[in-house]
Amino acid sequence: MFVAVVGGGPAGMAAAVSAKRAGADRVVIIERAERLGGVLPQCIHSGFGVNYYGEDLTGPEFAERLRADVKASSVEVWLNAMVIEARPDKTLIISTPHGISFVKPDAVIFAVGARERPRGAIAIPGARPAGVYTAGTAQYMINIQGFEVGKEVFVLGSGDIGLITARRMALEGAKVHGVAELMPFPGGLARNVQQCLKDFNIPLLLSHTVTEVLGSERVEAVKVAQVENGKTVPGTEKVFPVDTLVLSVGLLPEAELIRQMGLPILPYTGSAAVDQFFQTDLPGVYVVGNGVGIWDLVDNVAMSASVAGSHAVKYEGRSSDLAEVLPGVGVRVVIPQRLSLGESDVPRIWFRVACPIPVGVALLTRGEEVIARKGFAGLKPAEMAEFPLKEEQYRAIRPGDKLHLRVQQP
Ligand SMILES: Cc1cc2nc3c(=O)[nH]c(=O)nc-3n(C[C@H](O)[C@H](O)[C@H](O)COP(=O)(O)OP(=O)(O)OC[C@H]3O[C@@H](n4cnc5c(N)ncnc54)[C@H](O)[C@@H]3O)c2cc1C
Repeated sequence: MFVAVVGGGPAGMAAAVSAKRAGADRVVIIERAERLGGVLPQCIHSGFGVNYYGEDLTGPEFAERLRADVKASSVEVWLNAMVIEARPDKTLIISTPHGISFVKPDAVIFAVGARERPRGAIAIPGARPAGVYTAGTAQYMINIQGFEVGKEVFVLGSGDIGLITARRMALEGAKVHGVAELMPFPGGLARNVQQCLKDFNIPLLLSHTVTEVLGSERVEAVKVAQVENGKTVPGTEKVFPVDTLVLSVGLLPEAELIRQMGLPILPYTGSAAVDQFFQTDLPGVYVVGNGVGIWDLVDNVAMSASVAGSHAVKYEGRSSDLAEVLPGVGVRVVIPQRLSLGESDVPRIWFRVACPIPVGVALLTRGEEVIARKGFAGLKPAEMAEFPLKEEQYRAIRPGDKLHLRVQQP
């Protein structure tokens, strides 16, 4: 059994190690960068690994642990090698330093991560001066390349990446004038709002957005206004005199190769539908990590990718006994979207809510019938929550069922 893993971030490394441990004859990680790790080496803050390794690690430490596991399991690693084409028969065309290579593995695991939404994707009016960065680029320049990105900074987007980048720039001596968030609630975790903004006296402007970037050569200021019902409120505009605008406005799964394989892309995840083993509708083709949907914790990325790695080795065709899981009222994302029935282990179902729910109930339904329910407290759009399914509830699901996962507040 030959398993090819595309991408050597945490998802790819975890999937490759688990495929090898499950008995694959040959496992190859194909990574376009010059080192393994994905985005982890630039995430020098802590907050990684509490569940997976039982320790609070930095991104580089977490990556190093996985790299050691890869080395110890005799997984082949091809660096500076980029998959440029993927065919539905699982042929991969790879650009390597030695020329173009072809491989045709028995199973392919796409662990290609996500890309940041750039300025163009949110269409802020104004000129195109230097000084507008995505948060990941700013973080890479500071933490890996050692550059100072800006002295007077404004951040758009209060997801965890925006909050962490705001704090990083403050620690580098920049004045962070504020973080604007379109939604009436912060996008990131409460602890990050406290530790990254409040502890550094950085103002958080909820229901606000950047309406214009001013400056010709370099950013000279940004205009920020309040937003109500999707429209800016006249008379609320403020000008912040900054030289740098950092955009942290969301991640999108890298879906190009998956699309090339002919797999439809779900609008609410931006990637292909998968079952509980992260297998797509093409037998032997898997998508894991941020490539299948955006996860908040790398621990869950690694754990779910391990499931795909070991399943890829056991794979003997796709079960035809499938049920579908769809996001219902109040739920934005569900993973997996298919359940392969008849499998011995009870599947894990993950979901993200559309807006914060202080106290609520999540329901898995088949039409009007409730198959499973679970009370939750403190559900947030930033966090991927797990819906625990019991053995008897799983066994009650039938092939062809169309299930909805929804949340309701008391
Ligand atoms: C700025 C930032 C801060 C974060 N902070 C935290 C935190 O505090 N705690 C936490 O738990 N998580 C955090 N995360 C999230 C965590 O880093 C991600 O969940 C995790 O890195 C996702 O892993 P991945 O392997 O799916 O993707 P990635 O890490 O993005 O890896 C994907 C890999 O695939 C490679 N690749 C892509 N396409 C190809 C191709 N065609 N051919 C070959 N190789 C390819 C890429 O080069 C890359 O190495 C943060 C993320 C970011 C961006």
